[in-house]
Amino acid sequence: MQAAHIAFNLELKHPFAISGFSRTSTPLLLLRLKYENADGYGEASMVPYLGESYSSAEAFLAKVDWGHFTAPFSFPEVIRYLDSIATGNSAIKAAIEIALNDINGKLLEKPCHEIYGADPTKMPVTSYTLGIDTPEVLKEKVADAKEFKVLKVKLGSANDKEIIQTIRSVSNLPLYVDANQGWNDRKKAIDLIYWLHDQGVLFIEQPMDKANLDGNAWLTGRSPIPILADEAVQRLSDLDKVKGAYHGINVKLMKSGGMYEAHQMILKARSYGMKVLIGCMSETSVATQAGIALAPLCDWADLDGPYLTKNNPFAPPVLENGRYKLEDLPGLGLKGLPVNLFHP
Ligand code: MG
Repeated sequence: MQAAHIAFNLELKHPFAISGFSRTSTPLLLLRLKYENADGYGEASMVPYLGESYSSAEAFLAKVDWGHFTAPFSFPEVIRYLDSIATGNSAIKAAIEIALNDINGKLLEKPCHEIYGADPTKMPVTSYTLGIDTPEVLKEKVADAKEFKVLKVKLGSANDKEIIQTIRSVSNLPLYVDANQGWNDRKKAIDLIYWLHDQGVLFIEQPMDKANLDGNAWLTGRSPIPILADEAVQRLSDLDKVKGAYHGINVKLMKSGGMYEAHQMILKARSYGMKVLIGCMSETSVATQAGIALAPLCDWADLDGPYLTKNNPFAPPVLENGRYKLEDLPGLGLKGLPVNLFHP
């Protein structure tokens, strides 16, 4: 196994604000592994709240013994090995694991989605995310979202109703809401959730602080629409902690450490009768394509990374009528591989 990696600063089309902070770009580590004749691509998206950085990711890579990975890959064993190097570091673990999945598909001559049993005809529509912004910019962003059939709105600021009213003045698409832990009064939150339901909102992500299990569970017991855990659930082992407190979970590859564990989380959540959203960070086509491969196994998808950024070096995943199209290509099915990206 040969490995090459580069730092890549992924620039956002608009400054992205959610409840709590704002940013204009996201540091990535792009990884290419080569095994026999197969190339595999991986990506670590280091969003600030997960605590990783390019230097922590590089330090992790330096500890990896690439000779450890030989085909046929056992993904439970890959995960055990990566976890044995260090705890945390889920984004760089995801980069390695996604690249191995890409190689695995190429060696088996099968698309990743087929390996994970995902039927492309069951692809959910994917949402386009609107960060917290002024009414003028929100309207511009809605205009940018022409290819999408559902919008995800970030709330948790002082003017949540105004944000929804602004969007409703220019769009009647169904909405998802992500409060990013921004609500702290449960009674006000449940009143707002009923109002949002009347405005065509289909679910609410992480309404209250991730540590406030009681508050989130109180809302789950009363909400007319599903309440999903995002920040409160990172990996498979977190699922038991939120069981019963939320209607469902938001699975992301940068949290789970890659595709295999994300797939396990989807199956386990289902076995608990929970709903599943598959989400993403600010990502290029690499990690997004890996998420798309699992999306048909989920109720909802929020995989808009390549559409919210302006320098994705790969060809964007293909959208048709608001749904991603999965093609019969081996591995992740990435296209438009940039020449010399790893050999500047
Ligand atoms: Mg979220």
